[in-house]
Amino acid sequence: MRKISIFGATGSIGTNTLDLIRRDKAAYDVVALSGAGNIALLAVQAREFNAEIAITALPERLDDLRDALVGSGIEVAAGADAIAEAAARKVDWGMSAIVGAAGLRASMALARHGGVLALANKESMVCAGDLLLAECAAHGTHMLPVDSEHSALFQALNGEDEKSLRRLILTATGGPFKDFSTAEMQGVTPEQAVNHPKWNMGQRISIDSASMFNKALEVIEAKYIFNCDPSQIEVVVHPQAIVHSMVEYVDHTIIAHMGSPDMRGAIGYALHWPARAPNPIAPLDFANLGNLSFTSPDEAKFPALRLAREALSMGGHAGAIFNAAKEAALDAFIAKKIGFLDMADMVENTLYSAQLETTRDQDQTTIAKVLAADAQARALVNARI
Ligand code: NAD
Ligand code: MG
Repeated sequence: MRKISIFGATGSIGTNTLDLIRRDKAAYDVVALSGAGNIALLAVQAREFNAEIAITALPERLDDLRDALVGSGIEVAAGADAIAEAAARKVDWGMSAIVGAAGLRASMALARHGGVLALANKESMVCAGDLLLAECAAHGTHMLPVDSEHSALFQALNGEDEKSLRRLILTATGGPFKDFSTAEMQGVTPEQAVNHPKWNMGQRISIDSASMFNKALEVIEAKYIFNCDPSQIEVVVHPQAIVHSMVEYVDHTIIAHMGSPDMRGAIGYALHWPARAPNPIAPLDFANLGNLSFTSPDEAKFPALRLAREALSMGGHAGAIFNAAKEAALDAFIAKKIGFLDMADMVENTLYSAQLETTRDQDQTTIAKVLAADAQARALVNARI
């Protein structure tokens, strides 16, 4: 039996992962499942999969979790340290699917097991790509991306010589405001922004898709994962979300990865890698697909992509600052304290803040320093709200 853990089990990626595990329960021994406020779901999951330990991120909910699991023999714990401790328990396959930089410690711990780190938490790569990849390399852990674009690129690069790479082409749907003018975007609400046209995802990544901050994070994520020059990473808007990304080689051959927009594709690939296994996602029906279209993103309307490139050229802790500023601005937008377009302004101001100059330029040497940069950036955004 394969020992597995899922951090962020109650979220969109977590429940999709358990949906695949459920189809072949006897093959897996579930060690840890983590969640946050949805105690009822976490308890149901822990019982169904007979987890060794269930952890909520919220210490004030520990008693509720204990009550929900009474008589089950399942260990309970709460808080960020407890999540990190549970992620250090040996597994063969670990899913990192907490949302935000809050997932960084779990990703780092899962990188130390020498098995597979299935990485949905792109923020870990954006904040601490150098450290996370070094940790994987030091322990012989295979990092498999669970972002549809990066899984697509990983698959399209399979077996090729990395020296033959010309371009990575990330696709973006353009989100719900693709055809809005800047003036129209001014007044949009979190309820409108969360309404993604193609992918069914958690609240935060859905809003990030509407602002294109999600694609911005993915450009940084791709730079680390595929170790290429940022100039080789291109973004195209492809509203149908059928082509999940493409690799162009020096001979101008393009290998595109296609499939239904269903995250169980990327999760299943990481689960069964290096083999392939049947997956419950809908097969593509080419005759009924209609047109597939590709256009350039409007970087004047969506400044997130430009800001990501600027963060990449700064290096050091700029990725952590970029992400933290984005998270704090997103919190404020969700709380209706700032407008949709204010998020990019906040990120830009924070990225270039004189107060963060020394922090920004430091190399990534320890997770503590990355988290300190993250905290400073959040404080700066919060002071401006
Ligand atoms: P979600 O909001 O649906 O779920 C997030 C999970 O993290 C939940 O289990 C929640 O309880 C937990 N969580 C929230 N805050 C926490 C905290 N402070 N500490 C510990 N746990 C916490 O999010 P999601 O859409 O499943 O996304 C998870 C990650 O996967 C994100 O990094 C996202 O960018 C990435 N991702 C998601 C999708 C998708 O389709 N949903 C696609 C690609 C990448
Ligand atoms: Mg993606």
